[in-house]
Amino acid sequence: MSMIATSNDSKRMAEIAEKVRHGERLNLEDGVFLYETDDLLTLGQLANEVNLRKNGKKVYFIENMSLYFTNVCEARCAFCNFRKDLGDEGAYTLSGQEMIEYVEQHIHPGVREFHIVGGHNNHVPFQYYVDSLQALTDRFPDVTLKAYTAAEIDFYTRISGLSIEEVLKELQKAGLKSLTGGGAEILSDEYRKKMKVEKANVDRYLEVHRTAHNLGMKTHTTMLYGAIETHEDRVRHMMQIRELQDETNGFLVFIPLSMQPRNKNAGIMRRNSAYEDLKTIAISRLMLDNFDHIKAYFINIGPQLTQVSLSFGASDVHGTILKERISHAAGALTPEGLTRNELVWLIKGAGRIPVERDTFYNEIKVYE
Ligand code: SF4
Repeated sequence: MSMIATSNDSKRMAEIAEKVRHGERLNLEDGVFLYETDDLLTLGQLANEVNLRKNGKKVYFIENMSLYFTNVCEARCAFCNFRKDLGDEGAYTLSGQEMIEYVEQHIHPGVREFHIVGGHNNHVPFQYYVDSLQALTDRFPDVTLKAYTAAEIDFYTRISGLSIEEVLKELQKAGLKSLTGGGAEILSDEYRKKMKVEKANVDRYLEVHRTAHNLGMKTHTTMLYGAIETHEDRVRHMMQIRELQDETNGFLVFIPLSMQPRNKNAGIMRRNSAYEDLKTIAISRLMLDNFDHIKAYFINIGPQLTQVSLSFGASDVHGTILKERISHAAGALTPEGLTRNELVWLIKGAGRIPVERDTFYNEIKVYE
């Protein structure tokens, strides 16, 4: 790719800007061009315009807390540094009571969401996952349980013999309110084969979310970028998510996740550049015209770049988190969480209005 914009590039960018300003949907070629252009500032400006139209100057965050109930996992995804085999040093599986004790030790006032994920532990039955949620619901009835990835739900169908719908209904009875977005990686079966993504395939990932949406559950969705995938793979990923959103309108937010570097098995030994991270946030904002929010995840791109990304289309900075584990196992050098004051400072510093939200983007407090 030439680093000097040609007049053809400028013409192509102007055509895309026209489409964006007239609310016309971008296609695969548009998305790939935006990845390949070096005109980062025009790209950012367009994404910023779209975001300002949708959200004004508001930027959202939540007081939440991450819980990892087990790191034992039957899968061996090439990029994962979190998983352990049963019996390995550091392998653990928390009982419902142990989860409660962990939360009681670490929870701070104002936490309104638990973000709960873990390994595919086939040494415990499906009932373990139901009971864990029920224990948390009984002890913390006012905290929203956003739990499990679509890949974990797919895994539960395999260990229980139940359908996706039956698994989701059982978990809903125990208090499940929303699914997390993980497990999407890159929605390409070829990528999944090469990267040894030993979990739900593309169809199953989408089918779990479709089923949840049809049950009235709003969910989250991600894209883990920065390994062997092409720009076209990323844009196709966004388009598949966009198609499902057209069908169900069940996604709350799209979360681009920048791959972390400590992944020897996957051959990934460098971070994505800030340029690539900003482009991905801006292109997500432009491609996903039917999403209200694009999230900048400070755990993976750092608080400073998160702040800059608020001028490149992002309208959400996730939340307080407290002791993130998965990205840090993979080499993240960022804080494991931020306080409410730090998030408010970060958003205000970018000239935006911090809005504390609940899981479903209902506004709790506006920090004018
Ligand atoms: S990414 Fe998830 S499913 Fe894959 S090995 Fe890690 S914990 Fe297991």
